[in-house]
Amino acid sequence: MCKIYNFSAGPSILPIDVMKKANKEFLNWKNSGSSIIEISHRSKIFISMTKKIEKNFRNLLNIPNNYKILFLHGGARGQFSAVPMNLLKSFDEETDYINTGYWSMSAAFEAMKYSKTNIIDVKKIKNRKKHILKMSKWNIKNTSKYIHYCPNETIEGIAIHEEPNFYKNLIVGDFSSSILSRKIKIQNYDLIYASSQKNIGPSGITILIIKKKLLFNNKNKYIPSILDYYINYKNNSMFNTPSTFSWYMSGLIFDWILKNGGIEKIEKNNFIKSKLLYDTIDNSNLYINDIHYLNRSIMNVTFRLKHNNLNKKFLEKSEKEGLLYLRGHSLFGGMRASIYNAMPIEGVKKLSNFMIKFEKKFG
Ligand SMILES: *Cc1c(COP(=O)(O)O)cnc(C)c1O
Repeated sequence: MCKIYNFSAGPSILPIDVMKKANKEFLNWKNSGSSIIEISHRSKIFISMTKKIEKNFRNLLNIPNNYKILFLHGGARGQFSAVPMNLLKSFDEETDYINTGYWSMSAAFEAMKYSKTNIIDVKKIKNRKKHILKMSKWNIKNTSKYIHYCPNETIEGIAIHEEPNFYKNLIVGDFSSSILSRKIKIQNYDLIYASSQKNIGPSGITILIIKKKLLFNNKNKYIPSILDYYINYKNNSMFNTPSTFSWYMSGLIFDWILKNGGIEKIEKNNFIKSKLLYDTIDNSNLYINDIHYLNRSIMNVTFRLKHNNLNKKFLEKSEKEGLLYLRGHSLFGGMRASIYNAMPIEGVKKLSNFMIKFEKKFG
């Protein structure tokens, strides 16, 4: 069998060294005689593991002490509801939702249940390329409590690489498909959330980075306790039984990043990987990427073939070479190569070589 490279958008590829380690210690974790998935989240060894994981995550992203980190359930969609319920007290409060695509709009639809939601359209098309307006051109309402945006729209592969700088409103970011892919200026945000199954680990954990003072916010009184940030904080992210296995796996990923040069190195690699694919696309007469170069995602590279009838053949042939799950999201068709942190550069090179070969033969 040839070497497999997994380009799935999520759940997605994990580093092979991490999988091997998890495999090796699965039946007897830290000499406890039990598997990590069999022991109590109240046990000393589990709690000390979570403390270490939190510390490593804080170090990786350089998170200042006035921010708290929570490990929650319910995925990013859970946060689509939790964010307005925690940050707003009444249904008349205004919020600004920046619309850049499917995920940011999904968050907005949820917020409409709990607030007066302003949808701010910032995605434009010029010369057949999609781009996102600079933040300074965003039509922000000074009266809104917070601004919500998504720096990486996973489905379209369109991204915002600028850091926000708004003073009058709180800033909330959905980093589900871009957390740990690059440095973030945490101080420029009030709340960041990300579910685990894209760039962290298996599905099941949602990580929240929140300014400490917001935990004590006057919130919606109907909020379910499981979504309440303060309650989760008070209970060390163990108000109910956490997803112990994904928490543990996320910890192994953090160790792996630290061992491999930290976020700085990861960011460099991600740049090299995505550039290789975008260059392959731009130098071809067969592949087209619809995103302006300033807004191209470094995590999800989308492209389509000039001749639609070649899609099926492209997928068949790439699969035979061990290049898996390249089919684009059904909303946009075409192809999508998700090249999260765990995708080695060899995988991207193999895909690029395949694309060139395919064009020569069928293009
Ligand atoms: C995948 C994804 C979501 C949804 O995540 P769930 O954990 O399935 O709720 C939300 N936002 C972005 C940007 C995503 O990529």
